[in-house]
Amino acid sequence: MATKLLLLSFVICRLISTVGLTVDPNGLLRLGLYRQLSFDYADVETASLDFGRMTQVKPLAVLHPSSADDIAGLIRTAYESPEGFTVSARGHGHSISGQAQAANGVVIAMSSSISKRNRLTRPSLSLGLGHKSSYVDVWGGELWIDVLNSTLEHGLAPRSWTDYLYLSVGGTLSNAGISGQAFHHGPQISNVYELDVVTGKGEILTCSNEQNSQLFHAVLGGLGQFGIITRARIALEPAPQRVKWIRVLYSKFSAFTKDQEYLISLNGHPASERFDYVEGFVIVDEGLINNWRSSFFSPRNPVKISSLGAAANGGVLYCLEITKNYDESSSDTVDQEVEALLKKLDFIPTSVFTTDIPYVDFLDRVHKAELKLRAKGLWDVPHPWLNLFVPKSRIADFDQGVFKGILGNKKTSGPILIYPMNRNKWNQRSSVVTPDEDTFYLVALLRSALDSGEETQTLDYLSNQNRQILRFCKETGIKVKQYLPNLSTQEEWKDHFGDKWDLIVKRKMEFDPKHILATGQRIFQPGL
Ligand code: FAD
Repeated sequence: MATKLLLLSFVICRLISTVGLTVDPNGLLRLGLYRQLSFDYADVETASLDFGRMTQVKPLAVLHPSSADDIAGLIRTAYESPEGFTVSARGHGHSISGQAQAANGVVIAMSSSISKRNRLTRPSLSLGLGHKSSYVDVWGGELWIDVLNSTLEHGLAPRSWTDYLYLSVGGTLSNAGISGQAFHHGPQISNVYELDVVTGKGEILTCSNEQNSQLFHAVLGGLGQFGIITRARIALEPAPQRVKWIRVLYSKFSAFTKDQEYLISLNGHPASERFDYVEGFVIVDEGLINNWRSSFFSPRNPVKISSLGAAANGGVLYCLEITKNYDESSSDTVDQEVEALLKKLDFIPTSVFTTDIPYVDFLDRVHKAELKLRAKGLWDVPHPWLNLFVPKSRIADFDQGVFKGILGNKKTSGPILIYPMNRNKWNQRSSVVTPDEDTFYLVALLRSALDSGEETQTLDYLSNQNRQILRFCKETGIKVKQYLPNLSTQEEWKDHFGDKWDLIVKRKMEFDPKHILATGQRIFQPGL
């Protein structure tokens, strides 16, 4: 106890001396936060970095919460004290440019192992089983991989995913959470029934479409601006056992997008008449065949790009990636269903690559690539990623100007994903913004800056190319919206939110009037 009290006075002294914070020590003592607040060098260092490896901002302290009450206590202290301090939730820190960092503030380590251990005193995951609407209640810092493993024990799984599962529930719900299932189920934010949220005033509120609905819609896709998600009720479906995973190639962009758009138009059809997942990627150079997502191409089927007509097409190929889920009991019909769907597509006939794996292995596929990259020291490198939503009406112009133009036939150092989504699966009341068309594409340039000696793989080169792409879209009037936006000025944010800006400001005034939360997004200046 004596050590804890000593630590507490140290914490308070640090907060007072660094931000001039006038807090009531007994208040913190009553909250018991001295047990959860850490000034440990390793904790502060971890919280100051993210996956992007391009910005580093050290917080004053890190909170390892054991409950929503701890978070509410911390935020109330920040809100009520005259000087205040900023507070950012950090899930798995897989942002690109400091979105979960907190300058002069406290980072809440939602997913850290200490936070997890702290939570062992209470159940963090509970299932609600119903014939039509099974769900799971999870802690906001839970990683999707853990949610998957727990729900699979009951033969269930969430319906909508991200490509990579080592991301936190609160982190992806603050953006949208998209993958190849989004055309049918919508993004992850369309698959949540209810949330517990700690607002920027330190209140803990339960919200849903029916209860505190303003807060519910504000927080979904809300970039951490309106509250911290401490519990999410996620929709579940019976988990399929296996997946047929298919890749086919195109040399013509128009044929590729026509087929992708056809496949996502089948979203209301019975499962037997559509694929379960529709994605795709661009191969701008032969290097991608050795890239992190391409181990799939079987060595028995080496892809000779030149033989596939890419040379005649500015060196660019397009790969459609689709899957069909099935259970062993229906294994005799699945091949026929796949065949019937493939017959309707216009890909290069000799370019069909198929594999058949357990559902969990398919969902966790990027983690395998992560382990390989880690082993080569290629994971913890700068990631100047650019994610754009591109309206369908201009995707061909984007192809011409970016894939065949700006990117040219240069060596890439990461995948370039492209797949369409149906806007009617996105709730327009959420805080996320998409292009104003029924169909829009995600284009994700997921490139790593490498020390390879190649100029085209340096951070400067790639960052410059990203700026060029954004300039090209602006100059040619392609109304893109950034996904996982990386913007700096309020003018840029106003432009990003467009018609939604006034609503975003209103929501901020209501739920975080002192601008305490998620200042790393650089939308609102801290108003402390
Ligand atoms: P963090 O980086 O920790 O936080 C992101 C933002 O959310 C911050 O502003 C933070 O303050 C806020 N936040 C975090 N937790 C909470 C909470 N509980 N309540 C409120 N706000 C909170 N995205 C996709 O949609 N689809 C993909 O397929 C996909 N694949 C990816 C693959 C990799 C390898 C990586 C690195 C990222 C990928 N992403 C993808 C992006 C990812 O969804 C976002 O970066 C997401 O924010 C990461 O979650 P996180 O837990 O690491 O969030």
